[in-house]
Amino acid sequence: MTENDDLWHEVPGTAYVSLARRGMERLSLDQCFLKNCDNEDINLLEPFKKEEFEDEKKSTKLIYIKCHKCTGTFILKLETLKAVAKPTDSTDQSTDQILSMGLIFALDEKGNNIGHIGFF
Ligand SMILES: [Zn+2]
Repeated sequence: MTENDDLWHEVPGTAYVSLARRGMERLSLDQCFLKNCDNEDINLLEPFKKEEFEDEKKSTKLIYIKCHKCTGTFILKLETLKAVAKPTDSTDQSTDQILSMGLIFALDEKGNNIGHIGFF
């Protein structure tokens, strides 16, 4: 096993996409998110770099992935929102639900957002 194979462990296997009133759909992340590319073969995808940083509100992980079908590079951006501090004067129990949530975005090589993929 190489160091790069290890990076796959950083990627959630599945994301959940909200379909408005039709609930959630599972989406595999083992695919190329670049335009005009339909690569869904994990063997043609090579994660090669990881960046992590965090601030007081969220932790962010960037996984750089090279696609050997379209020869492009895209970035999976995984954002985990941290527990929201509960306002002391709040009696609204529903705020407890915003504890930890993961958001997945796809970025192109230059860091431009090419879409909100879903949740993990
Ligand atoms: Zn591709």
